[in-house]
Amino acid sequence: MTKPLKIVIIGNGFGGIYTLKNLHKFFHNNKKVELVLVGEKNYFLFTPLLHEVATGGINPANIIEPIRKVLGCCLDKFYLGKAETINTKNRTVKVENDFVSYDYLVLAGGAKTNFYNIPGAEQYSFPLKSIDDAIKIKNHCITQMESASHMEDREKRKEMLRFVVVGGGPTGVELVAELEELVKETFSHYYSKEVIEDVSIVLVQRGEELVPQFGPKARAKSLETLKKKGIEVLLNTAVKEVGASYVIVNDGQKILTETVVWVAGIKPAEMKFDEPVSMSPDGRLVVNECLQLENQKEIFAIGDIALFKQENVPLPALAQVAEKESATVAKNIKLLIENKKPKKFVYKNSGNLMSLGQWKAVGQIANFTFTGHITWFIWRTVYLSKLISFRKKVRVAVDWTMNLVSPRDISQL
Ligand SMILES: Cc1cc2nc3c(=O)[nH]c(=O)nc-3n(C[C@H](O)[C@H](O)[C@H](O)COP(=O)(O)OP(=O)(O)OC[C@H]3O[C@@H](n4cnc5c(N)ncnc54)[C@H](O)[C@@H]3O)c2cc1C
Repeated sequence: MTKPLKIVIIGNGFGGIYTLKNLHKFFHNNKKVELVLVGEKNYFLFTPLLHEVATGGINPANIIEPIRKVLGCCLDKFYLGKAETINTKNRTVKVENDFVSYDYLVLAGGAKTNFYNIPGAEQYSFPLKSIDDAIKIKNHCITQMESASHMEDREKRKEMLRFVVVGGGPTGVELVAELEELVKETFSHYYSKEVIEDVSIVLVQRGEELVPQFGPKARAKSLETLKKKGIEVLLNTAVKEVGASYVIVNDGQKILTETVVWVAGIKPAEMKFDEPVSMSPDGRLVVNECLQLENQKEIFAIGDIALFKQENVPLPALAQVAEKESATVAKNIKLLIENKKPKKFVYKNSGNLMSLGQWKAVGQIANFTFTGHITWFIWRTVYLSKLISFRKKVRVAVDWTMNLVSPRDISQL
């Protein structure tokens, strides 16, 4: 019997999981094809709700899904570990102590936080990329509240209760909005009025506007909503240095704070190859119109790790981009197996949504911007529908419902 064709996927985030789901549609019960996944964690993480874990709105376990549960039937092998080197000559990937061979390879390793070598940024700030990051942020905020609650020196207390978020993209905006909800709806139940009055939230954005990926109306609405919530938004402000108890920005201002969350940028996950492959200056894998590496047509790259240009503009680092690319990649692998020509990938944006705290959200489809309670409801419904299992959808819905009627859980995890 001939050996089955091996399709290996590296990365178990949006790109990887959806590639596997799409391949499953084509090759379910097909003994001639073997589907292999490599991932650093044994679960899929639904990143768009991480900010709600960081602010105590959702239980961390509810936005992760075990890989085995997601894809039990068609996953022939799952390697739990980091893919280290790709040997294109003998078509193997080194994963910890294993060498995994492939006929087709899909690279979906995503991205990590980019601190841009700013002094102290990596050492003193909290990233928000993983479930552990979100838990650390929540725990830290609660520690600050507890320590400040018996601090008599008011200036010191204000410093302890100043929460600075660096990065005014959608994640930063969603996070500060939700942080304000945490203070208003939950901390205010447990801490004195004097302590609550000393809490401040600062959002630092290098550009002249928030959420530049959205249109002008959505940008203006985000700024207006955050200001109404009492959040201090510093535009045209670049962080120059972060310390244990301060942030220095470009005009020399020193912001005293013991909490800096860094959501100001990403850089692609590293992939090592035995021979040079085409990479953009920021380290993304350059792919052709069919999402293949130019000189390695059996290797595909998708999601945040890949650079795909449409009309000369790189696609943004979004879950929906990774998800849509995964459908084309699965189809192209099937076509190649059938000795047919692969199809070109064309990205069609389905619209963007961003929450701005309870009952508030902004949405944009093409040039049409919508806001208000209904948008917020749509945002929740869409994100709920995107969670993988019914069980987790119900749990998140329960968390959200409980938050409407009672304070969030401030137990440290
Ligand atoms: C806090 C936050 C909020 C976000 N909100 C939204 C949103 O609302 N809407 C939206 O569209 N997008 C959002 N995004 C962006 C979205 O998460 C990414 O664009 C999307 O996850 C990209 O998918 P991916 O498969 O490329 O990477 P990921 O989903 O990050 O998956 C990559 C996976 O590969 C694994 N991996 C990396 N290197 C290796 C290796 N060497 N070996 C094995 N495994 C490896 C990683 O551990 C990870 O599990 C958000 C991101 C964050 C961090």
